[in-house]
Amino acid sequence: MLKRHSMRFAAALLPAVASFVAAPNAALAAARQHHDQVPGYYRLKVGDLEVTALFDGPAVFDQHWLTGTKPTMDGVAKELQEDPHILEISVTGFLVNTGKQLILIDAGAGTWFGGGALGRLAGSLRSAGYTPEEVDMVLVTHLHSDHVGGVTTQDGRRVFPNADVYVAKAESEFWLSPDLAAKAPKDAQPFFQSAQAIAAPYIKAAKWHTLSGSETIVDGMQLVPLSGHTPGHTAYEFSSKGQHILFWGDTLHVQNLQLHNPEVTVVFDIDPTAAAATRNQLLSKLAREDVLIAGPHMLFPGLGRLHKEGSGYSWTPVAFTDQWVESAPSPQK
Ligand SMILES: [Zn+2]
Repeated sequence: MLKRHSMRFAAALLPAVASFVAAPNAALAAARQHHDQVPGYYRLKVGDLEVTALFDGPAVFDQHWLTGTKPTMDGVAKELQEDPHILEISVTGFLVNTGKQLILIDAGAGTWFGGGALGRLAGSLRSAGYTPEEVDMVLVTHLHSDHVGGVTTQDGRRVFPNADVYVAKAESEFWLSPDLAAKAPKDAQPFFQSAQAIAAPYIKAAKWHTLSGSETIVDGMQLVPLSGHTPGHTAYEFSSKGQHILFWGDTLHVQNLQLHNPEVTVVFDIDPTAAAATRNQLLSKLAREDVLIAGPHMLFPGLGRLHKEGSGYSWTPVAFTDQWVESAPSPQK
């Protein structure tokens, strides 16, 4: 009985099964494609600090911006032939909520770096639950417009009206000097002009501050001078409950190339030899320590750790988790 019944049952199903096989997923294929992306932020905790990576946009590093010795560049050309995608990078800023202060470290490009795909940081910040008005402080690693452009609109308005902006003294004096700007080669002129226009409204509002190296402006935060890329290029290291995070600015631009070729430099390095030496020193130190790295040009969210691998380094990005967000302290403003 049982057998006959099941046979009949199978026979009844057969036409349905046949049509399913003939047109697999016919109904599923009609679903609308979704072209929007998840909001551009990623959060994690470092001790008591809430750190949020804020996406400013995607970018592709121009091959002609890479520099180095002939053997190095021959190797680079070969790698690029095999995989041009290695030049893909991100532009990211990072928000630290200490529980007392809301601190932005690097602000993305705004409209100052060719426009286009960049300039989304303020939108990412809003998606992350904050407003630009809430930001108390902006720490800038250096004054290239892809790191500081996001603080000022093209018509000279402060995007973070309540924030004090901090940058290394050597950096500020270099890029804001009318004399140096006048003497600079033609292709360097736009960097001076944008830095001056971006800084102007904060200087006018007495909200532009320079750091000479040793002052404590935030508890648990240390300045890490990393000159070479620019005269006052500075990283910021935050520590809380024995955990550390280093916001390293432009220590590295193209992770899929420079991690295993740290000797590759870029045309934007004011002193390429010093930039490479600084990078070598820092990478080898970080590979020995348990420090989380926040890199504005590492692929989003730009957070991970370094390990020694052969003559270069490998990068272990943070693993996605949505667990901790539920237990996160709400910002105390
Ligand atoms: Zn940069």
